[in-house]
Amino acid sequence: MPQYAYFKGEIVPIEQAKVSVMTHALNYGTGAFEGIRAYWNDKEKRLLVFRMPEHYDRMHKSCSILKIKIPHTTEELCDITCELLTKEGYTEDTYIRPLAYKASEGIGVKLHGLEDGFCIFAVPFGRYIEKEEGARVAVSSWRRIDDNAAPARAKVTGIYINSALSKTEVVERGFDEAIVLNHDGHVSEGSAENIFLVRKGKLVTPSPADNILEGITRATVMQIAEDDLGIETVERRIDRSELYIADEVFFCGTGVQVAAVIEVDGRPVGNGKIGPVTEKIRDLYFDVVKGKVAKYKSWCTPV
Ligand code: PMP
Repeated sequence: MPQYAYFKGEIVPIEQAKVSVMTHALNYGTGAFEGIRAYWNDKEKRLLVFRMPEHYDRMHKSCSILKIKIPHTTEELCDITCELLTKEGYTEDTYIRPLAYKASEGIGVKLHGLEDGFCIFAVPFGRYIEKEEGARVAVSSWRRIDDNAAPARAKVTGIYINSALSKTEVVERGFDEAIVLNHDGHVSEGSAENIFLVRKGKLVTPSPADNILEGITRATVMQIAEDDLGIETVERRIDRSELYIADEVFFCGTGVQVAAVIEVDGRPVGNGKIGPVTEKIRDLYFDVVKGKVAKYKSWCTPV
């Protein structure tokens, strides 16, 4: 449990960071949030926050779609986050959750004419999908929210009912994670992570027009794969049956990091073991986020 939260403009004991049952965002899902990771660096004896400005920039964009005003610039938010982490004094990997929300108390579904609230809290956080050896996944019967129904590229609290439905459906059927298709039947992403296929030595991933969240890990993977491993990424539509014949499949996201998929809908991916491309990207990704790669050190904000 965290001891503190940033709430109503200051760092307060977590018990004081409370909202009413009448809060608009609790009733209508009118919030926008981020998920940011900080990695404990044992050599430097401090936390390194991964791509924090990019997360806060995305949060400002999500909030702009929801007509929420965050009372801070990205730079200020980074400083507040470091202050909060310092106060918590964590010495292990940590997950940071900033949340902006419609804070007015009352009935009425809308976005305009409401007060905004903002908070940040941080919790210790290890792996998200436990399986080191690779995840067994299934295609969910729930389709990914279409951008014409709700903004898929914004991290909006209410939209996460879509993720929760697909995740619980497949976990209750005995799988580790869900793959979600678009309304037209093409692959969009996992329940809360982006997806990559490996085909003939190239990475293939759905494009931003496929109702994906434009993931920061996705962008990181594309950059390090190209620049450091010489592996090109093709952004294009992916058929369901392509999942069954891909050489390799993996998920990526702040929470999941880089996680191999070894089975889709009861069919082994490749030889049913973590593939060589996934392994290379995963290993490099972990070095990058932990601040071990000099060229990407600027992505890691020291606390
Ligand atoms: N898609 C969804 C629906 C997500 O919730 C996340 C996690 N934020 C991602 C993709 C991956 O995004 P990122 O790499 O920026 O964490």
